Amino acid sequence: MRDENCIFCKIANGEIPSTTLYEDEDFRVILDLGPATRGHALLIPKEHFKDLFELEDEAAEKVLVRAKRIGSRMKKALRADGLNLIQNNGEAAGQTVFHFHLHLIPRYENDHAGILWKPGKTTPEDMQEIKRLVDSQ
Ligand code: 5GP
Ligand code: ZN
Repeated sequence: MRDENCIFCKIANGEIPSTTLYEDEDFRVILDLGPATRGHALLIPKEHFKDLFELEDEAAEKVLVRAKRIGSRMKKALRADGLNLIQNNGEAAGQTVFHFHLHLIPRYENDHAGILWKPGKTTPEDMQEIKRLVDSQ
């Protein structure tokens, strides 16, 4: 399924040109126009799924296999020191384009991309409460 108003549907299906690092029947990997680091890419399914929760299992299973293969090629080719996989769902999580995509972000020593979080605090009681809430779903 396609969404006529979705920019990533148009990019993934080649209606809008993009710098494509990889393409197959189901996915396209493009360079991000506002990269966090050099080589920041997006793995985008050709079918429209709004986010992780809408993504079909069959596509979901393929996502990590593609990310492994392409991420590994990118890391070698760009001589990166590491790679972050990031995937945002919902505005609160930083999602701005509502067509599922996985960020592949090459990391370089001292790149100061500022992607990692500061560890917060928790308590054993709250961890138990979280477990209880998730188990009850
Ligand atoms: P999100 O915030 O939804 O996880 O990520 C959206 C990403 O898409 C951002 O990193 C943004 O720079 C990128 N982006 C938005 N529009 C375009 C576009 O038209 N072309 C490309 N290549 N990237 C885009
Ligand atoms: Zn779409």
